[in-house]
Amino acid sequence: MYRKGHLGVSLLVFAPIGFWLVRAGHTELAFLTGGVMCWLAMLPDVDHRIPGVPHRGPTHSLLFAGLVGLVFGAVGTLVGSQVSLGYSFGLGTFGFLLGFVTVVAHLVGDTLTPAGVNYLWPLSSYEYTLSVTPADSTVANYALFGLGVFAVAAATVVAFRIPV
Ligand SMILES: [Zn+2]
Repeated sequence: MYRKGHLGVSLLVFAPIGFWLVRAGHTELAFLTGGVMCWLAMLPDVDHRIPGVPHRGPTHSLLFAGLVGLVFGAVGTLVGSQVSLGYSFGLGTFGFLLGFVTVVAHLVGDTLTPAGVNYLWPLSSYEYTLSVTPADSTVANYALFGLGVFAVAAATVVAFRIPV
């Protein structure tokens, strides 16, 4: 998928997470999660810019999602050990999940395209694909973006009980 499509999928994945965070009283974490997921929606495509790394190879795998999760988890653990924010869960765990889900949302977007994603790299070379749309489809990219924006808007209205 292209940037708009990936942003759309990230927003779709974020909508229920953000809803849950707001309802649990962690509004600031909801904003942080949404911001990070949009900011890093294209992170796995960094492989376009790294010489020698094939596109949709190592950075499009659950292993990479786990590594990004570990980096985020380390940051969360560090922050959590410095300041007590009063959460019922550890910021290390939260950070890991945030990094992991951010990457997986990108992989889900690419799974919609015929080229697919090798989730189990380097253990397997199987490309998982739903083959719903070509990556360069303008209609599909805009449709996903629109769906994502709608999902977040709907989740925001319900989570904050905004009268409509
Ligand atoms: Zn990609």
